[in-house]
Amino acid sequence: MLPIETNLNRIEKLSIQKENENFRFRNFLKRLDNRKIDKIVQRLHKEITNQIDCLECGNCCHSLTPIVTPEEITRLASMENMDEETFETLNLDIDRFQGSKFLKALPCKYLDGKKCTIYQDRPSDCHSYPHTHKWGFTRRTLSVISNYGICPIVFNIMENLKLELHYTDRPHS
Ligand code: SF4
Ligand code: SF4
Repeated sequence: MLPIETNLNRIEKLSIQKENENFRFRNFLKRLDNRKIDKIVQRLHKEITNQIDCLECGNCCHSLTPIVTPEEITRLASMENMDEETFETLNLDIDRFQGSKFLKALPCKYLDGKKCTIYQDRPSDCHSYPHTHKWGFTRRTLSVISNYGICPIVFNIMENLKLELHYTDRPHS
């Protein structure tokens, strides 16, 4: 395994430098067995999440706007002693394409330093981020690439996946 990278500045710079490589790697993955990739990614997910402390990072809460379900809206509004309509007006936006509602503030209004102040009650979208424990990795590679420069877990999984699959980038082939 490669040494774990957690420096957010380096990860962001590498995501720009390696953007084309990552798209070529995405095409490479499409030719492989999905189930084999899922097994490797899920093992890497476990190994890498054990070595990264999200409480020392919090970058997703600075960079992304999580989806909230109707039940979560009810819960969050009640935690703030608001009716749902007021809570939505103040805190949510709607994704016009998917119709989903999401917390609009960046960084997230529930973030204090690097810690989530509603950790036990955070939206399920936050709970499951960066989604690398799920099946169907090769169907989600566009989203994986967009999270590569944000989340150290995704970055380290991708780089180790390239290594394990003996991926050699060939920019001009
Ligand atoms: S609710 Fe908590 S975990 Fe989710 S984005 Fe906000 S601060 Fe982060
Ligand atoms: S999920 Fe990724 S971006 Fe979010 S806190 Fe953990 S390592 Fe950082």
